[in-house]
Amino acid sequence: MPKSPVLSQSSIYSPHSCTLVHIENLTPQEKLFRFRLEGSDPLGHMPGQFVQISIPGLTEAPISLASSPTRGPEFELGVRRTGSLTSAMHDLKLGAKLGIRGPFGRPFELNALRNKDLVLIAGGCGLAPLRSLIQYCQDQPNEFTSVQILYGARSPQDLMFQDDLENWRQSPDLSCRYTVDNTPAESCYDGRTGLITELLASLALPTDNCCAVIVGPPPMYRPVIDQLRRMGLAGKRRIMLSLERQMRCGIGKCGHCTIEHLYCCTDGPIFWLEEIEHLRGAL
Ligand SMILES: Cc1cc2nc3c(=O)[nH]c(=O)nc-3n(C[C@H](O)[C@H](O)[C@H](O)COP(=O)(O)OP(=O)(O)OC[C@H]3O[C@@H](n4cnc5c(N)ncnc54)[C@H](O)[C@@H]3O)c2cc1C
Repeated sequence: MPKSPVLSQSSIYSPHSCTLVHIENLTPQEKLFRFRLEGSDPLGHMPGQFVQISIPGLTEAPISLASSPTRGPEFELGVRRTGSLTSAMHDLKLGAKLGIRGPFGRPFELNALRNKDLVLIAGGCGLAPLRSLIQYCQDQPNEFTSVQILYGARSPQDLMFQDDLENWRQSPDLSCRYTVDNTPAESCYDGRTGLITELLASLALPTDNCCAVIVGPPPMYRPVIDQLRRMGLAGKRRIMLSLERQMRCGIGKCGHCTIEHLYCCTDGPIFWLEEIEHLRGAL
């Protein structure tokens, strides 16, 4: 991977300037933003990493990379309107200049995923970080035996990346299924309704050579893990997941994101299940 021009700066506390080059509405509360670094250098990230993004004079927030480094030097973030920074981002116009620190954090361990049957499971906004890995799998299909994508959202209007979902469904190298928890009576949605655990239970998992990756809201983890285990996914280095905690520095200094002895920003956000399962408050 290319060396990160951002991390090679003199201070990891100094944001690097980037320009907003594309905005897309994903859902009523989420938008996709594409950025170009000053000088058009690649960010040098790996799937699963995050950046600290800032609007000069306002504040900064950690946001996961939603695009794969295999897609060129520009990078994308899928952002839910939550508070001060993300709301201000939703009001930005093309050409806006933002600050960026990173890429930070432990990525998905691609070496452990190679030559495996992958089950990639996302809930809600978790599809944004997982999209980076999905794009990587799509661009390097020979590295993986098979790739199944499962995605759950609350309602049809909350389904993120709908064009990508269709593209992944059509792709010869991937399989993609999604479900929504509830379908309003007036909706014309004709897809699957039900929990993601039900969708998972309906599949035949090739468990001998299988690795699962889970990214979603905290309440999703335990039921999905229990279901994977019932289906035979047992033992170490079989389930990888992403943990989000409130973060400030992003570089293991301030202690805001600790889970017992682990720093979510530098030891994670990607962990193997057995590394965190026994820690209080992790899941
Ligand atoms: C590693 C990592 C990756 C992330 N990736 C994404 C992403 O791809 N897309 C996206 O939309 N968001 C992502 N987030 C969440 C995002 O950083 C928070 O929602 C952040 O608070 C938004 O900043 P804000 O200034 O808009 O909100 P603020 O004004 O800071 O806060 C809004 C509210 O969210 C709460 N909050 C802050 N951080 C978190 C958190 N980590 N989990 C739960 N609640 C929190 C605050 O207490 C407050 O109540 C990520 C967080 C982490 C740690």
